[in-house]
Amino acid sequence: MPTIFSKIISGEIPAFKVAESNDYLAFLDINPLAKGHVLVIPKQETDYLFDIGDEEYMGLWIFAKIVAQGIKRVYPCERIGVAVVGLEVAHAHIHLVPINEVGDINF
Ligand code: 5GP
Repeated sequence: MPTIFSKIISGEIPAFKVAESNDYLAFLDINPLAKGHVLVIPKQETDYLFDIGDEEYMGLWIFAKIVAQGIKRVYPCERIGVAVVGLEVAHAHIHLVPINEVGDINF
């Protein structure tokens, strides 16, 4: 089912895109848990991360790794927190959140 993320992929609604390939897109979360919080998504519509086919799933994580390395350069941090939540938007996605101290994250 199309979600708000489909509109971001098509450019119908704006997002701050940080990386894009034919199959994947990374953009800043509109309501970040910390500065530099990025969402990594497949362009193909699949509701839930673990319903993605194996090849696309592996590609998504490799893309997320490359994006995480880029985030670390732009937002110097100790590490990148990784989360699969999926409470709000039914389009598969991975959260990447720069972390320095626990207090940085605004849960
Ligand atoms: P989840 O589905 O994993 O609980 O969270 C979805 C995430 O998508 C949330 O962190 C939320 O802030 C983000 N989000 C929801 N709508 C938009 C939007 O229109 N643009 C952007 N950039 N992020 C969004």
